[in-house]
Amino acid sequence: MEMLSHDILIVGGGGAGLRAAIAVAETDPALNVAVVSKVYPMRSHTVSAEGGAAAVVRPDDSFEDHAYDTISGGDWLPDQDAVEAFVNEAPRELVQMEHWGCPWSREPDGSVAVRPFGGMKIERTWYASDKTGFHMLHTLFQTSLKYDPIQRYDEWFVTKLLVDDGRCQGVVAIELATGRIRGISAKAVIICTGGCGKVFPFTTNANIKNGDGMSLAYRAGVPLKDMEFIQYHPTGLPFTGILITEATRSEGGYLLNKDGYRYLQDYDLGTPQPQPVLRSMELGPRDRLSQAFVKEQEKGRTLKGPYGDYVNLDIRHLGEKVINSKIPFVRELCLKYENIDPVTDLIPVRPVVHYMMGGIHTDIHGATPMEGLFAAGEAACVSINGANRLGSNSLTELLVFGARVGRAAAEYASGRNGGGRAVAAQAADEEERIERQYRRGGSRSGGEKMADIRQRMHDAMESGAGIYRSAESLAQAAQEISTLQDRIQRLALDDSSQTFNTELVAAVELTYMLDVAETIIHSAIQRTESRGSHQRTDYPERDDDAYLTHSLALRQPGGAPAIEYQPVTITKWPPGERIYGR
Ligand SMILES: Cc1cc2nc3c(=O)[nH]c(=O)nc-3n(C[C@H](O)[C@H](O)[C@H](O)COP(=O)(O)OP(=O)(O)OC[C@H]3O[C@@H](n4cnc5c(N)ncnc54)[C@H](O)[C@@H]3O)c2cc1C
Repeated sequence: MEMLSHDILIVGGGGAGLRAAIAVAETDPALNVAVVSKVYPMRSHTVSAEGGAAAVVRPDDSFEDHAYDTISGGDWLPDQDAVEAFVNEAPRELVQMEHWGCPWSREPDGSVAVRPFGGMKIERTWYASDKTGFHMLHTLFQTSLKYDPIQRYDEWFVTKLLVDDGRCQGVVAIELATGRIRGISAKAVIICTGGCGKVFPFTTNANIKNGDGMSLAYRAGVPLKDMEFIQYHPTGLPFTGILITEATRSEGGYLLNKDGYRYLQDYDLGTPQPQPVLRSMELGPRDRLSQAFVKEQEKGRTLKGPYGDYVNLDIRHLGEKVINSKIPFVRELCLKYENIDPVTDLIPVRPVVHYMMGGIHTDIHGATPMEGLFAAGEAACVSINGANRLGSNSLTELLVFGARVGRAAAEYASGRNGGGRAVAAQAADEEERIERQYRRGGSRSGGEKMADIRQRMHDAMESGAGIYRSAESLAQAAQEISTLQDRIQRLALDDSSQTFNTELVAAVELTYMLDVAETIIHSAIQRTESRGSHQRTDYPERDDDAYLTHSLALRQPGGAPAIEYQPVTITKWPPGERIYGR
């Protein structure tokens, strides 16, 4: 097989991948960088982020406050040294974005505008109307075009990491337009493949978010960290799962139950106020708001709709002018997808899987335990998000840790040799595997159907590992996923074409999702406490003595992962109570 070769290879062209590519090019212009992406970079999920990116900017704010909000929001699971690096470098990164052309929204006096966001006690969320991710990704993409050493492989789909001598030295990818399979060797590989919301049936995540990079690293023997922590966003549209951004509540939206009552006042999240009060009621953290929905549901105080129970989000009192200037995209989404106008109508919403706090285990520079392999963005777990991410920290994380990982990988790669013969042989084996398993029919007649396996995975995850879990629900899900892992070996595909074979891609993505599902469930089984987004009905209390630790899921051949633990790094903020609205 003909091998392509680069100094540094980045898998993923979203916010983290592009920021990393620019950082490599700026650190050492002699290094050539490849960005491999299964979609055209501008279609990465980052483009759909709406609300904003957090960084200290106001004179009454401080790094300590941003760090404390992040750590307490994450229920003391974030590593505090990583959070400190994050909050310190965040403003610089957002100003850098401005210099590259990102059109941050402004106050009338010309200063950068910030909006309140859930769990942040001071306003520090920078935004570009309610299309922040769109503008940020455009800015990064156009900036990346300035650097000649950055070469792109758009619509190439990675199926394997090449590892030799304990060192990651490249990948195998399918060029989707032709079906050709190629090995790409590199001195360092950075995984920036984003999250895995599609493991669940109801999610804000794009169809491309299947945990590819997490599974690739896991299969190569790298642990996945804190996988039990799944973020439900409290406000998704009931049928599509399309996100109604938290900015809607930060502009003053209310959540109402079926009696038109602001039910969050009953959940230790503050008392109703005419204006949004920071960190209280609707601006509480996402885990608490999603859990309150389930409690309302249990009390029979939610509404019944064709797509499940829901509550209402009321922004009518904001008026058309504010809605059109601050959250125009929310209005557009409601009109297009629900045929309602939030200027005059209530918006039906329910909690929806949104974000993965866990991911590939990395250190503060984005290095994984495997030499030559790095990760950043939602695919990675540094960790700054702990048991519950605060809204608007992720976009900033892409920049801070994208830049860090780019610099670290550049330093690692400088003066090192690339992949040799052994990885070329592995790449040839992978080509043969794909041909045999997916293209030459494999078990085509009488084989398993992808749609059925996916449906069962979704059912198992939703009923077993949702907002509330128990030993029993998780054990059932574990059993089902294990059965599906067997069944997927006998997958039958109908499409053997070479050109844009989306069935083949979806089949490989499903294998990635099953791996990720397995790590989520087994990490959740082992954590017999409730913390942040991980709520066990059979262990309702947080247990710092036993579980102020990160979980690490390690792949075991042919079975459930082994779960190990690593202590949380505490610098200045000893574990305390999470207090909101008081
Ligand atoms: C609707 C929505 C709104 C959000 N709003 C906000 C917000 O306002 N503020 C905030 O802070 N966060 C927000 N988030 C979260 C945040 O946007 C994401 O966490 C972040 O954008 C992820 O960026 P990333 O670079 O890690 O990955 P992505 O942007 O998801 O990019 C992943 C890249 O990896 C590539 N890739 C994946 N698998 C493969 C493979 N096998 N082979 C080749 N390439 C591959 C893809 O092509 C893509 O280029 C939002 C998320 C959603 C879903």
